[in-house]
Amino acid sequence: MINSSLKQLAAALAAKKVSAVELATLFLDRIEKFNPALNAFITTDHGKTLAQARMADETLGKVGAGDAAISPLCGIPLAHKDIFCTKGWRTTCGSKMLANFVSPYDAHVVEQLASAGMVTLGKLNMDEFAMGSSNETSYFGPVKNPWDVSCVPGGSSGGSAAAIAARLTPAATGTDTGGSIRQPAALCGLTGLKPTYGAVSRYGMIAFASSLDQGGPMAKSAEDCALLLNAMAGFDPRDSTSLERPREDYSRDLAKPLAGLKIGLPKEFFGDGMDADVRTAVDAALAEYRKLGAVTVEVSLPNSGLSVPAYYVIAPAEASSNLSRFDGVRYGYRAPEYADLAEMYSRSRAQGFGAEVKRRILIGTYVLSHGYYDAYYLQAQKIRRLIAADFVAAFRQCDVIMGPTSPSVAFAFGAKSADPVQMYLADIYTISTNLAGLPGMSLPCGFGNNAMPVGLQIIGNWFGEAKMLNVAHQYQQATDWHAQMPAIAPAAPAK
Ligand code: GLN
Repeated sequence: MINSSLKQLAAALAAKKVSAVELATLFLDRIEKFNPALNAFITTDHGKTLAQARMADETLGKVGAGDAAISPLCGIPLAHKDIFCTKGWRTTCGSKMLANFVSPYDAHVVEQLASAGMVTLGKLNMDEFAMGSSNETSYFGPVKNPWDVSCVPGGSSGGSAAAIAARLTPAATGTDTGGSIRQPAALCGLTGLKPTYGAVSRYGMIAFASSLDQGGPMAKSAEDCALLLNAMAGFDPRDSTSLERPREDYSRDLAKPLAGLKIGLPKEFFGDGMDADVRTAVDAALAEYRKLGAVTVEVSLPNSGLSVPAYYVIAPAEASSNLSRFDGVRYGYRAPEYADLAEMYSRSRAQGFGAEVKRRILIGTYVLSHGYYDAYYLQAQKIRRLIAADFVAAFRQCDVIMGPTSPSVAFAFGAKSADPVQMYLADIYTISTNLAGLPGMSLPCGFGNNAMPVGLQIIGNWFGEAKMLNVAHQYQQATDWHAQMPAIAPAAPAK
């Protein structure tokens, strides 16, 4: 059961081989057993989970097995990154600031998945306010990588990645502002997808950098991600950047053969920055794609070298504005002692935010200030435009772009945390996608140094999710990297 795909779980539920309550219980037991070593979950609530599971069983019982009126996700458990507001559950965003915040409403994504009948197992650890690439900035302590607990799981959706890798949940939500779905998916041997900007509503998703943030699915396979995205995506008038487009079935092209597919390989992604072990695995994946009938062409993204500096102006600028709401009055932590209003603000923010978040607020405030706006923020916005134009040109020559997701496999705790620039470079291959608003995904393509997973990145054209999922699924039909699981989660006896 714990290794089953969502489709297999749906079939087992429909055939009454297992109930939603039994499935939820199976995963809750695993969470109790393995989470203490991993710290992937911040919050669980068995009562709430089982109540949702009972409701799913009722729905499944009322309508006949395989009834088209019910979602194929009904009764399947999942867990949410703790950036998504969940009514009645704590939503911490990995922060002290919101350590006790209970949301009065559900995020759009949470609402959509719940109305499909999915059962919430709990809330997943993450870097504080989604700022980080290693999960070391969480107020609730770092998450461990199930493949090697001395290594980071990636970030900021590290809890989501670790929980799926250890089979504590079949699937999870994540968010990706500069790589936070794809990079942890790569470092933990999973499949994760960041949709086109605007495809998934940001309503109820705690804002980091609003023009870059996008929620998406994380799971074991592309097929699972397609099913989840079907439920997550869709127009929502409560998010002003939500795209009003007809609903899509993201699974529709999974089975298409890849003969004639044109894969663009940006020469800037295959230079010095990539570790040799990652290179070997990515090259082998490309060889597999050629066997499947695809052809590879060299393309160029000449401004991609500017993506990290542009991102670290734009993202902090937006973060400094978004995080101004945490003032000790309207939300979150308030300092216990202060002399006057100004001191209440400053002490609440000084005590409530961690070091990385403060660094971003300071950078953001600086680049938006009167004397520096033109020199930094405006320049970064111009670079952003150039980066998007590079992709437009590249997609004239190819259907999808491929390269590494991360320059290295998972690194040890502490390896980069003392040097923010080193940490920022962990996202060198993922950030340009966010700046351009393009969809991207990561899928496992082998193992590198210390037998740690390597991720292959696929970047699609705008609204190219179904194509990317097709390209990923065909590879996963021909290989079994995505089916590997770490030893920390020994296979439970089949139910
Ligand atoms: N690691 C990047 C950062 O720290 C991206 C984070 C994200 O995508 N949320 O900003």
